[in-house]
Amino acid sequence: MDDTCIFCSIDRETLAENELAFAILDRFPAATGHSLVIPRRHVLTMDELTGEEALALFALIRQVKTLLRERFGPDGFNIGINEGEAAGQTVMHLHIHIIPRTRGDVENPRGGIRKVLPCRRRYRHGEGPA
Ligand code: 5GP
Ligand code: ZN
Repeated sequence: MDDTCIFCSIDRETLAENELAFAILDRFPAATGHSLVIPRRHVLTMDELTGEEALALFALIRQVKTLLRERFGPDGFNIGINEGEAAGQTVMHLHIHIIPRTRGDVENPRGGIRKVLPCRRRYRHGEGPA
């Protein structure tokens, strides 16, 4: 527990939860239904998770995907972790983003999360935006 941490002290209205992890809707969603799956214990990186916590997080990801499919009927998901400031992490308590995606929500979705580095997002020579 870290008193200064949003995810340790958040007043949770959980989407789903288990003994070791909980899931909430992102307050500033990148897409409708954008959710965060979060270990209850304050850790910064995946490396600090116990095996049990890792399994609990994975189980919850699957549960949240099912829920989001029922509620929003997305066509796909981006699932990912920003680990470390250099990778864009802003809340220093590990969390897994689940971002529902809909066909046509961007012009060319090919490549998905690899596009976090815009200068290297070309999927294959001659394909997609530079
Ligand atoms: P990061 O940038 O660390 O990978 O992601 C932090 C995420 O937490 C962001 O998507 C941001 O919108 C979300 N967030 C920040 N503050 C709050 C909050 O108070 N409540 C919720 N539900 N999400 C938050
Ligand atoms: Zn925390």
